[in-house]
Amino acid sequence: MTTAKYIIFFILMVSLPLCYAGDTLSVTFLDVGQGDSCVVRTPGNKTVLIDAGDLASGWNVLRYLNNAGIRKLDALVITHPHADHAGGVFFILRQMDVAAVYDNGCDVDAIDDDFYRSYTRLVRRYVGYKPLAQGRVFAIGGVRFDVLWPPSGDEGCANPGSIVVRLKWGKFACLCMADADVTVERAIMEKYKRLSSDVLKVGHHGGKDTCSADFLKRVEPEIAVMSVNESARPQYPDIQTLARLKASGCRLLRTDTDGIITIEADVEGAMHIKTKKVSIYAEKI
Ligand SMILES: [Zn+2]
Repeated sequence: MTTAKYIIFFILMVSLPLCYAGDTLSVTFLDVGQGDSCVVRTPGNKTVLIDAGDLASGWNVLRYLNNAGIRKLDALVITHPHADHAGGVFFILRQMDVAAVYDNGCDVDAIDDDFYRSYTRLVRRYVGYKPLAQGRVFAIGGVRFDVLWPPSGDEGCANPGSIVVRLKWGKFACLCMADADVTVERAIMEKYKRLSSDVLKVGHHGGKDTCSADFLKRVEPEIAVMSVNESARPQYPDIQTLARLKASGCRLLRTDTDGIITIEADVEGAMHIKTKKVSIYAEKI
């Protein structure tokens, strides 16, 4: 073997473990009642939390992470500062090592409310805080995160300002819609050619303002996941939205009926689904 070949061989041996640090991506949707919280564990053994549940369930999100042996978050994404998505940050940020915190950069200070004032103090002044906007791409543990929405913080702090993110690893893709509505669906359909995703985290808890037939046709999800608590909020999910999802041919999983939903994917996009029917409010999770 020549010296040059030895050098190439050495570089390959050093870089291979970095490329193939793991062989599965898992995306877990926690049952946080009428809220959102999704734990992404990457093949490179990194963890990203997208939303943190509400003020009641946030403590249990923290317990879930601790029980799963997760001591550190590589990123925490707060899709928008509504309490059912952001409430849990008051537990997570105070109890865990969190490398980066992202939100949509909306003008929370303009809202005259104690929740948002506390949110500003904790999140916006956090040392690892940065706002996210459309076009931003980041990679964690080999997984690519494409931010599709909002164009800027000007879209506001409410549902239409939600951060929409598409995860991509190998042939697997998962589109997380947070509380985005049909106006956001239309905007991202115009902007992006490629939206097809194996998993769709349904927007706005399956409300009537989400999952247009056109959008479902473009995304073509094999699995749709809905974070919902129908017994507490009977208007969610909307019956017509359920009908459109059914007509699209996808398999629907719901946190209120399936509990904690984990989708494991390999690099070829093959998926394995695990569900655990235990409420996030249970003593043992
Ligand atoms: Zn919500």
